[in-house]
Amino acid sequence: MEGFDFPSGILRPHVDLTSWVWFSGVMPIQVKVMERRPRTFWEQSYLPEIIRGLSTTISHLLKHLLRLEKMPTYEYPEQTKPIPEDYRGEHRLMLRPDDTIRCTACMLCATACPAECIEIIAAENPNPDVEKYPSVYTINLLRCVFCGLCVEACPCDAIRMDTQKRDMAGMSREEFILDINYLMKNHPEGKSPVSIAL
Ligand code: SF4
Ligand code: SF4
Repeated sequence: MEGFDFPSGILRPHVDLTSWVWFSGVMPIQVKVMERRPRTFWEQSYLPEIIRGLSTTISHLLKHLLRLEKMPTYEYPEQTKPIPEDYRGEHRLMLRPDDTIRCTACMLCATACPAECIEIIAAENPNPDVEKYPSVYTINLLRCVFCGLCVEACPCDAIRMDTQKRDMAGMSREEFILDINYLMKNHPEGKSPVSIAL
């Protein structure tokens, strides 16, 4: 067999496919040819399938019209659909127990952000125990993809996305740029603004 000039048990780069198949014991794939069944007259006309599809649609329509109270419809915006507790909504910046900002302007969230929508300017913290704080912290929601990587990257639980806020509408682009003052007050009712993380 052509290309077969190596000792038993060793495959060499120049071995051709036929040799490899023979050497490895793999059988060549066999192709089974299937005959195509010709369409019947009714299949060719498509009418039975059209009638079947329409009857399914009409039966669903009638079922829902007759049992409106069971329709899974929410009268938005008066009714909102419940969302999971861990839904990633608008961001908020957490506080320390003394009401100062938890963020230490380490930039990890801005570095992790794939949309580059976090802007931070660090300043010296008057508290000698904390090196820095953000004098500027903005999030551009128009670029944000709500991936949550900023929250994952933060080493001190300074940013969360658990506000459950998902209705975002505005009249100008500026309204979607959340500044530090907004983020530090963006705490949902019933949830503490304070994080006691180390
Ligand atoms: S959720 Fe994702 S895209 Fe939005 S600010 Fe955080 S890291 Fe950036
Ligand atoms: S929010 Fe967290 S990760 Fe981002 S700069 Fe502040 S401390 Fe660092």
